[in-house]
Amino acid sequence: MLNGSCHCGAVSFEIGQTPEFLLSCNCSICRRLSTLWVYSDKVPITLHAPEDSTIAYTWGDKMLAFHSCKTCGCTTHWASLADDKIVVNSRLCPPDQIKDIRIRHFDGADSWQFLD
Ligand SMILES: [Zn+2]
Repeated sequence: MLNGSCHCGAVSFEIGQTPEFLLSCNCSICRRLSTLWVYSDKVPITLHAPEDSTIAYTWGDKMLAFHSCKTCGCTTHWASLADDKIVVNSRLCPPDQIKDIRIRHFDGADSWQFLD
């Protein structure tokens, strides 16, 4: 099991099994946040984000919200506004937990295909 938390510990999560890959996306927000995403439809994820612990950022067609810890500023996850999909940022995991997991590069800026 992997686990992660923001710097101050207000938001945390557990990932029930090692994901097949971590997703690096080059879209307008992910490239700025430098996130490595783990998708909850691939592996079981339990997120602990107390109400009012995060700031949610939405824009454009408002299909999803990017959450950052209100106290320490770490980007913790994004959440779909249409369903219960949650995607967490594996940058919050201890480095030794994720060092051997493949990173796949996703072209979220343009083609919405994997680049590898
Ligand atoms: Zn925090």
